[in-house]
Amino acid sequence: MKTIRSVSELRDALREHRRAGHRIGLVPTMGAFHEGHLSLMRRAREQSDVVVVSLFVNPAQFNEATDLDAYPHDEARDAALADELGVDFLFAPPAGEVYPPGFATKVVISGITETLEGEHRGRAHFDGVTTVVAKLFNMVGPDVAYFGQKDAQQARIVKQLVRDLDMPLRIEVCETVRERDGLAMSSRNVLLSAEERHRAAALNRALEAIDRGYASGSRDPAELIRQARAELEAAGIEPDYLELVSPATLAPLAEVNGEALALVAARVGKTRLIDNHRIGSDAGPRAPATQHRH
Ligand code: AMP
Repeated sequence: MKTIRSVSELRDALREHRRAGHRIGLVPTMGAFHEGHLSLMRRAREQSDVVVVSLFVNPAQFNEATDLDAYPHDEARDAALADELGVDFLFAPPAGEVYPPGFATKVVISGITETLEGEHRGRAHFDGVTTVVAKLFNMVGPDVAYFGQKDAQQARIVKQLVRDLDMPLRIEVCETVRERDGLAMSSRNVLLSAEERHRAAALNRALEAIDRGYASGSRDPAELIRQARAELEAAGIEPDYLELVSPATLAPLAEVNGEALALVAARVGKTRLIDNHRIGSDAGPRAPATQHRH
C-alpha cells in the first residue's frame, strides 16, 4: 500500500489504472479505523481493481473546535490496518492540500441538510461534508464510493449530491457494524469512560424498542418514540433528537406505513453519538455481535 499526500501524486498514481479501464473504489474516512471502516474497505476490495481510502479529518465539518481537537487519530495504525486489507492507496493529504490559500467554493444542498444533524450541528456541518466529498470525488474519480448506513443522513445527502451534479459514480451504502452490546461502532467510542460506554448501548436499545413496537403492529410514531425514549431515560440519556422520518425526504412521519428511518442522536457525557435503524424494510433481523453486518 502506498500513502499519498498530494492531489498531483494521486492523479499520477491513478492515471495508468484509469487508462487500463480498472475499476476504482473509494472509501472516504476521517481515520481512527474500527470494524465499520474495515467493512467498507472489504466491500471496496471485493468489488474494485483499485481501492483508495482517503483519511482526512475535515475541519470544515466540525462545528465545535473542542470536538475537532479531541478527534482520535493514529495514522500509523490506520495505515497498517488498511494495508492488511489490501488497500492500494491511502490518500492522507494535509489540510493545506485540500483547502489551499484562497479556497472559496462551497457545495450546499438544501432541504435534507437542514433537519436532524443539520439542525443540531448547524448548517456548516453538511456544507463541509458535501464540499469535501465533492472534492474527493473529483480528486479520485472513483467508479464506486462506499459510505456507512451508520451516518444515514450523510449517505442520503451524498446520493443527492451525485444525482444533482451528475457525478459519474455509484454510491454504495454498507450496513452498520456494531459492538456486542449493539452500540454502533464509531471513532468517538474511545472517548467514552467505562460508565459512559455502558450507558451508550441504550441508543441501540431505544431503536430496538421501535423495531419491537413496529413488529407488534404499532404504526404511531409518537407511541413508538415514547417506548424508545423510556430506554434512553433509564440510562440517563436526553437525546438531541429521536425521530421517525421518511428515508427519502428525512421529514417526520405522521404514520409509519412502508419504509421509515428511526434516528437518534445524544450526548453521553461530553461525547455526541448517533445511530439509526431502518424500519419496515427488508433490513432483516438484528443480532448484536462484533463484525455483524445488517
Ligand atoms: P468517519 O471516519 O466516521 O467519517 O466514517 C467513514 C465512513 O465509515 C462513513 O461512510 C461512515 O458512515 C462509515 N462508518 C462509520 N461507522 C460505521 C459503522 N459502525 N458501520 C458501518 N460504517 C460506518
